Amino acid sequence: MFKRRKTDRMPDGASPQDVAAYRRAWHSYVARRNLVVVLFLSFIFLGFMIGKLKLGEPADFAILLGWIGVYLAGGWWLTEWRCPRCGKVFGHRLWTQRCISCDLSKDEVATMARGK
Ligand SMILES: [Zn+2]
Repeated sequence: MFKRRKTDRMPDGASPQDVAAYRRAWHSYVARRNLVVVLFLSFIFLGFMIGKLKLGEPADFAILLGWIGVYLAGGWWLTEWRCPRCGKVFGHRLWTQRCISCDLSKDEVATMARGK
């Protein structure tokens, strides 16, 4: 048997099914977050490319608008991430640390997903 450290705040009676659900939710979250980070970084690259290519203002504008659309879609997808404990939308802001419905923190989800 394993010992629980005092700092761990595991929900009482966590079943293997719960752990599996948390793990799935966490992987889903990481994928979404990474996508948003990649999109954000690509914006810097895109700005650099636009400056170099000199396609003209209408084309630059169209590229930027298209990219902003993709970024907003990625950001929306991230905010649509569901809390594994209460099943509701975790938060409406991108970097919310705690579930707006049940106060579960992302750290707790990550701890549970890693399993012990
Ligand atoms: Zn919740």
